[in-house]
Amino acid sequence: MEADFPIPLISLKDGFLENVLEKAPFGFSLMSGDYVVEFANDIWLEIAGKTREEVTGKNLFDVFPETKDQLIPLCESVRQSRKPFHAPEFSIRLKRNGVFQEVYFNFIYHPVYNTDGDFQHFVTVAMEVTEMVEIKSKVKEDEERLRLATESSQTATWDLDMHTYELVHSPYLSTIFGYEPEIKPSLKQLRNHICEVDRKEIVDKAFSEALETGIYRYEAQLKDENGVEKWIFTNGKVFFDDAGKPTRMLGVLQDITERKKSEILLQHRNHQLNTALDATKLGIFDMNPITLEKYNFSPRFLEIFGYDSKTERIDSHIFEKHIHENFCETRVAALQRARETGDLYYQTKIVLRDGSDKWIELYGKLMQPLRGSEAYISGTIRDITERKNFERTIGESEKKYRFLADAMPQIVWIAETDGKLTYFNKATLDYSGKNYNEFVEEDGWIEIVHPDEQQENIKQWEHSVATKQPFNFEHRFRNKDNQYRWFLSRAFPDMDEEGNVKKWVGTSTDINDMKKQESQKNDFIKMANHELKTPVTTIKGYVQLLKKMRGDSEDKFLVNSLNTIENQVNKLTALISDLLDISRIESGRLPLNRKEFSLLKLVTETIEDIKASEQSHEIDFELKHPGDITVYADKERITQVLNNLLTNAIKYSPKSKSVSVALFVHEECAIVSVRDYGIGMDQEELNKIFERFYRVSGEDEETFPGFGIGLFIVKDIMDRHQGKVWVESEKNKGSEFHFSLPIFKN
Ligand code: ADP
Repeated sequence: MEADFPIPLISLKDGFLENVLEKAPFGFSLMSGDYVVEFANDIWLEIAGKTREEVTGKNLFDVFPETKDQLIPLCESVRQSRKPFHAPEFSIRLKRNGVFQEVYFNFIYHPVYNTDGDFQHFVTVAMEVTEMVEIKSKVKEDEERLRLATESSQTATWDLDMHTYELVHSPYLSTIFGYEPEIKPSLKQLRNHICEVDRKEIVDKAFSEALETGIYRYEAQLKDENGVEKWIFTNGKVFFDDAGKPTRMLGVLQDITERKKSEILLQHRNHQLNTALDATKLGIFDMNPITLEKYNFSPRFLEIFGYDSKTERIDSHIFEKHIHENFCETRVAALQRARETGDLYYQTKIVLRDGSDKWIELYGKLMQPLRGSEAYISGTIRDITERKNFERTIGESEKKYRFLADAMPQIVWIAETDGKLTYFNKATLDYSGKNYNEFVEEDGWIEIVHPDEQQENIKQWEHSVATKQPFNFEHRFRNKDNQYRWFLSRAFPDMDEEGNVKKWVGTSTDINDMKKQESQKNDFIKMANHELKTPVTTIKGYVQLLKKMRGDSEDKFLVNSLNTIENQVNKLTALISDLLDISRIESGRLPLNRKEFSLLKLVTETIEDIKASEQSHEIDFELKHPGDITVYADKERITQVLNNLLTNAIKYSPKSKSVSVALFVHEECAIVSVRDYGIGMDQEELNKIFERFYRVSGEDEETFPGFGIGLFIVKDIMDRHQGKVWVESEKNKGSEFHFSLPIFKN
């Protein structure tokens, strides 16, 4: 078999070639077919770590028995195949200088044949590459380490060919852009993920800048393949050729979404904090707790102290300079407390450079030191001048009111929102002979209230406090001589804009004399009733008797006189019973005697009765309901109500001739209305006519007889029936009174 590159047998004895080979920069040796080293040059010996004598003429495997297993098969295959064997970075375990080493060679085993084609020699050419291999593997290790480092720091790497714009990148870069790691999106695809504004304003700008400076850096926002919004940061370097043309760009890329989010959140928080601080108008500073030096002043701090934060530099002992002399002790005491508790708080006056003064409130907290730093006090100040002035004004006006309250002979008291009484004027103390503290102590005031009224008093007061309704109560208070007098207590809530009670202001007026007079009056009425009733009943009896005896007499004067006497006696009887009713109403003794009855019948009968005695007016009646209406009420009292309304309608419409009565049902109530076309009333009078003894004052009314008690009784009767009475009226046009009662249902 022919060798590919048969090397002619060369005589190594030929001095020239021997010399050349001996000094060649690679290892060279010539070995016979039975592995006897015939020649080895200097480098080969150096690689082998042997002298020429140790190897020349010796069997290679006697010299390096450790290589026998590895090399003999190799040599034999070369001999057989007649082809040279190339081995790059071929590793051999060699004992060199007495030490086993892993050694790397780029080497060639070449078979040499004679002209007849017979095998003659092995030529070995070897170049040691151990060092290069080691470096290579180190580079590989480094690369691996870098890869691990970048992956664990969530950093992707990329490499851009600046001629072709071909991009090579790590799998993690695909992940950042929302692709599977094995997918390799192109530069164009990746670019499309970056938000349009950022692409133009940030990425393209950074790219053209990189071509000038060699550094490519930016932060931009993108929407990844899954539509997730992310922030990325890239940092790259441009490589230029000798002509200054960019050839390649290498860089790293990171997903900084979380950082950005927290940055934005932080910005937001800072903004919120600043806004909150602005709103509170707090000035901030830090302070060394030992030297009391201050630093890190906020602009607002300086503003409060009257400095321009932009142009002026501030002394760290600003407080000492400005504190008002009267407050130095306050400050020392506050600092002492701060040392013990960690909290600094005081209010002080400060004097500004222009001589004016201000009130400030200072609050500080001792911050525990972090490692490597010192403890400090974080402080705030607030300008409270306005508040102080306001407090002073309030204080002065309160003093004024207290003075006024004390000067009043009436009892004045103030209660808090929850109903607790916290102030009593001097008159209270003078009356009761107690001192202020005795009153203010837990419900101390109730002690002077008569035991009979105490329970109801507390109940009513609690009701007012709960409902924010004015308080109105009559009770007896014990004076310093242990005697009780009647008082009328009233209290009104003082509300803020939102309707919350700020305070209750109450007064108690001595009504003892009034009460006494009233009961005397009631006693008198009762007595008068009694005394009047007997003779009037007697007169009535005699008139009726006379009428029976002489009612059909020819003597018109006599008959008319008897009728007039009877009418007037009837009126007198009604008046007396009205007066009796009033005293009964006031003492709460007007009983109702309820039963079911037909309201329709009651109305028609009452109209008939009135018609019999009053002929001056037509009274027409309209039933605006199909059928009868039954109510459950005191029949006599309801008759009294209608009677009253009808007689009033007639009395107050002297110029008209008619009165209309209607009966109807509305929302489950029976309503009776009495309409007249008389003198009518003003709107403001309408509310008062149901009050006791109220009479409309006017020229017209003065000509009408009456006491102003009829409607008061009507109202009381209707109230006690859970019914209603009301009126519509217009001056000179007439009035319409209505009363309503719940319908009775079985
Ligand atoms: P009096 O005894 O004065 O009638 P009332 O209590 O019945 O007392 O009425 C109170 C006041 O109401 C009357 O004085 C009168 O001014 C007014 N009043 C009552 N009814 C009418 C009416 N139908 N038209 C006009 N005014 C009326």
